[in-house]
Amino acid sequence: MRTPLVAGNWKMNGTRASVAALTQGVAAGVAGLEGVEVLVCPPYVYLAEVAAAIGTAPVRLGAQDLYTAAGGAYTGEISAAMLVDSGCAYVIVGHSERRALLGETDGTIARKFMAAQENNLIPILCVGETLDERQADSTLAVIGSQFNAVADAVGIEAFSQAVVAYEPVWAIGTGETASPEQAQEVHAALRAMAAKRSAKIAADLRLLYGGSVKAGNAAELFAMPDIDGGLIGGASLDADEFLAICRAAAV
Ligand code: PEP
Repeated sequence: MRTPLVAGNWKMNGTRASVAALTQGVAAGVAGLEGVEVLVCPPYVYLAEVAAAIGTAPVRLGAQDLYTAAGGAYTGEISAAMLVDSGCAYVIVGHSERRALLGETDGTIARKFMAAQENNLIPILCVGETLDERQADSTLAVIGSQFNAVADAVGIEAFSQAVVAYEPVWAIGTGETASPEQAQEVHAALRAMAAKRSAKIAADLRLLYGGSVKAGNAAELFAMPDIDGGLIGGASLDADEFLAICRAAAV
């Protein structure tokens, strides 16, 4: 059985004070919540403080990105080992904002995926189509090429310790959500792509949906057979809203 995962991507938001309050709210609210894995991904500079504030609460810590090199003269970058040292178990790779705004290619993303796993971090690989691509009916081709580029580079076995998030770019931060049926269609296609390489790994692979998930639409999305939780942006900045989404995913 795939344990659902709900991951909060806090992006470049917060202050030390607001992050502390948000972390306390999430950590207190997960008490007694079973059947879902809860993850928060704060900005790098707050990782250690969030780790300390989580304490023994069942909330996992992740980062929003990493650099591929192990260390050295890479001004401004952060290595996988540093993330582990700060308490991270997960790291997001290939978020559409990084693909679009920072020029990340499938090749870079595959190298980040590998660097994460070499340090026992679980990568959350993001894939997703733009509105133009959806309107041109190329959603599955785009998703396929993003997924297959990484799978070709790292091998399907690597996906036994990874998560994939389908995030339609047109639904991120827009308030527009893929319908449960639209999301399920892509998730089923992603699982089928993985199954062509390994049926066992595909069956166990957690596929998250991301794109304007809120407490009000989470349950119908998570009820879909191939949606195993969510990657949550805006709604993860409010502890009560995020916790309601976590509860909607719990099995
Ligand atoms: C995201 O950026 O990963 C995301 C899903 O954002 P939002 O929930 O705000 O659409």
